Amino acid sequence: MNPLIRVIPAFLVRSFASPYVAGDSLAKAVDVVQKLRRERHLWSTLDLLAEDIRTDQQAQQNVDAYLQMVDAAAALPVDVRPTLSLKPSSYTTKPMQHGGDAAGSREAMFAIAERAKQKGVALSIDMESRHWTDFTLATFRAMHERGMDHVGIVLQTRMNRTERDLDALPKGCRVRLVIGIYREPAEVALTDKPAMKERMLTFAETLLKRGHYVEFATHDDAYVRRFLEQVAKAGIGKDRFEIQMLYGVPRERFLADLLRQGIKARLYVPFALGWDMAIQYLRRRLDEYPAMVWLVTKNLFSRR
Ligand SMILES: Cc1cc2nc3c(=O)[nH]c(=O)nc-3n(C[C@H](O)[C@H](O)[C@H](O)COP(=O)(O)OP(=O)(O)OC[C@H]3O[C@@H](n4cnc5c(N)ncnc54)[C@H](O)[C@@H]3O)c2cc1C
Repeated sequence: MNPLIRVIPAFLVRSFASPYVAGDSLAKAVDVVQKLRRERHLWSTLDLLAEDIRTDQQAQQNVDAYLQMVDAAAALPVDVRPTLSLKPSSYTTKPMQHGGDAAGSREAMFAIAERAKQKGVALSIDMESRHWTDFTLATFRAMHERGMDHVGIVLQTRMNRTERDLDALPKGCRVRLVIGIYREPAEVALTDKPAMKERMLTFAETLLKRGHYVEFATHDDAYVRRFLEQVAKAGIGKDRFEIQMLYGVPRERFLADLLRQGIKARLYVPFALGWDMAIQYLRRRLDEYPAMVWLVTKNLFSRR
């Protein structure tokens, strides 16, 4: 990690993190999910901030936390119920980016997916850095082969491989399209942001044509508008896609406008089991994506 980011005091990181984190317990996060739905008519995806796993005990705690999240989601009425998002690295002490084999992660995700299926809760598997892509897609495909069609996947348009990965998706599965948060080398990925966003439009078109459900996840209003024009032109029903953004990024007016047009919108709602975890998470995000300091600061002063 960049030494400068390591020395930013915890209280400062926490003040940056707080608008983006729905609290330091599952109960607080569930409260946020209910408020978003009842007061702002927005759906949610719940995510536990839990990376950088050092011990088997931590990995098991994350599995247990996700099983509790499944139960908490299932206890909510269907018209409020969030989906859950999983990160494969949360369940292993052998992370792929450090040459590990992700031991335990596949089994953990299957156990969570099994429980979620029984309880009627939908899941998505987040996409992490390029080291994880093969493992994540293989696990996802194996889940669908076992009838776990309540599980969706994330594809990152910056990655050059994504065009091929589109061809190997399970039939009709749910796909969240993002540009990707991880900095990847030019040999394997685009480095130009507008080009990544153009790919979001192209890939969304391909996916919709092939019968997938598309979760178009970006805060870029201009690209959301272009996506909506594209689907309207193609005569795609509003039940075939949704727009997703991160909790805390100020897009209130824009989202309210989407809802007025009958477009489904969902926020990705991260929470932590203690602020230490949230602070660690934000430090890593700042390290991967230093421009976030500027984005967060700008957002503190703007409401859109
Ligand atoms: C619902 C959702 C799920 C995601 N899941 C994944 C995933 O599984 N894997 C993955 O690699 N990436 C994921 N991402 C991150 C995504 O890949 C992008 O890195 C991120 O959304 C920024 O790109 P953008 O398209 O919003 O455009 P940008 O051009 O980066 O942002 C447009 C504007 O949005 C605001 N903004 C964007 N990001 C932030 C932020 N973090 N904090 C504050 N303001 C911000 C700023 O005002 C900025 O000017 C997810 C994003 C969303 C919205």
